[in-house]
Amino acid sequence: MAEYDYDLFVIGGGSGGVRAARVTAALGKRVAIAEESRFGGTCVIRGCVPKKLYVYASQFPEHFEDAAGYGWTVGEASFDWRALVAAKDKEIGRLETIYRSGVERAGGTAFASRATLIDAHTIRIEAENRTVTADQILVATGARPNPHAALPGHEHCIFSDEAFDLAELPKRMVIAGGGYIAVEFANIFHGLGVETTLIYRGLEILGRFDMDMRKTLHETMEKKGIRILCQTIFEKIERRLDGSLDAHLSDGQVLTADQVMLAIGRIPNTENLGLEAAGVALGKTGEIMVDAYSRTNVENIWSVGDVTDRKQLTPVAIHEAMCFIETAFKGNPTKPDHETIATAVFSQPEIGTVGLSEEAASEKFEEIDIFRAAFRPMRNILAGRDEKMIMKLVVDKKSGRVVGAHVLGPDAGEMAQLLGIPIKAGLTKADFDRTMAVHPTAAEELVTMYQPSYSVRNGKKV
Ligand SMILES: Cc1cc2nc3c(=O)[nH]c(=O)nc-3n(C[C@H](O)[C@H](O)[C@H](O)COP(=O)(O)OP(=O)(O)OC[C@H]3O[C@@H](n4cnc5c(N)ncnc54)[C@H](O)[C@@H]3O)c2cc1C
Repeated sequence: MAEYDYDLFVIGGGSGGVRAARVTAALGKRVAIAEESRFGGTCVIRGCVPKKLYVYASQFPEHFEDAAGYGWTVGEASFDWRALVAAKDKEIGRLETIYRSGVERAGGTAFASRATLIDAHTIRIEAENRTVTADQILVATGARPNPHAALPGHEHCIFSDEAFDLAELPKRMVIAGGGYIAVEFANIFHGLGVETTLIYRGLEILGRFDMDMRKTLHETMEKKGIRILCQTIFEKIERRLDGSLDAHLSDGQVLTADQVMLAIGRIPNTENLGLEAAGVALGKTGEIMVDAYSRTNVENIWSVGDVTDRKQLTPVAIHEAMCFIETAFKGNPTKPDHETIATAVFSQPEIGTVGLSEEAASEKFEEIDIFRAAFRPMRNILAGRDEKMIMKLVVDKKSGRVVGAHVLGPDAGEMAQLLGIPIKAGLTKADFDRTMAVHPTAAEELVTMYQPSYSVRNGKKV
């Protein structure tokens, strides 16, 4: 066998790559990882982590309002965008260090460099202008925002990457997109006091989520003051003399804003990586094609995370990395499991979801029972906040299995995590019913909805 410099070389120091490098190094293997930007990748530097910090920041105005109902008088509040950006930078800097040093402490080598493939076993480390060799290679280069290059004036737009670090908070913002990133940013900017418009080409925001949740979130966002325009797209973006932007929509409207943000999907980072030289096959949208074990068509080259465009979520990238290690280094071939993934939209209110939507379940099963509760959570009553919470269980009537659970309201993301366990385990509605409630909580509704609200038979509500 040829002698290589490393047992494993990982390209990309994000969620999937760092996990694979750290755990494989801890097995005693010779491991190196290259990151061209900042260790931690999208999630830590320009995704989940800063996003959640900004969600927290944007919720304070409502907390201040609600406090009055509980007897508090809160003085005039003001917000300092630059202070938030600086606090966020400090925290992601801390996490970045942890990500890098974690690999090094496990015995791996971390290169702050772009890396490309020369052939199936040779990697070029650009910053050092040299090549190294590796027995196994893992490509975990992630994805980036779709730049929408066909849109006239697209060069005036920002993406989620820039939205975190704007020099100043805009007064007016238009966001294009109907996925969770667009929806979350619309809520963040609105909460921070920005006049926000969301435009989306589809019929309703958040495709593939349960329609009940999508519609109710849409209505609630509008009630808060976010303008949502569906079934329209940008035709062009023009810069005005005063520096603001005109977004021309396909329905003839022109929206003037200080920033226009595009959140219309993400594309895999596979260009100029040397994948062709190594013989790695790509799919239609440039994603790396992998088999059920995350192996590419080249035997010693593997790929995990967003660059494979399976499910673009951090825990999925990490899970795929852990399965890769089992398969490639522990003699225990393990397929990542992409079924029944609990997830959340950190909108305001949040959506937490796991399993099938009512629409998907009604296509899959002959008859389903829907257990649904819509109520004002206790916290909103004294606050005088007229916002409803929805809990919904989707049950296959024949087997009694709960096949979907959907929550809209405060802490829905936290609930989705816990609901993920019984639903993944295939538990039935009877199991939910015999679980004692925790009182007084909002989540107790999930185990106290004894009668179906309605059923859906062969796709029709009965
Ligand atoms: C705004 C936003 C919010 C999000 N919120 C959530 C959330 O709430 N929950 C959730 O689960 N997921 C969320 N995600 C998705 C999540 O961030 C990704 O699914 C996750 O980061 C994917 O990990 P990865 O390892 O595949 O890629 P990444 O984390 O993108 O890492 C890839 C790394 O590879 C590096 N790289 C690329 N090419 C090279 C090269 N040639 N050489 C060296 N380095 C290279 C990149 O610089 C990058 O650091 C969010 C994403 C965004 C954009």
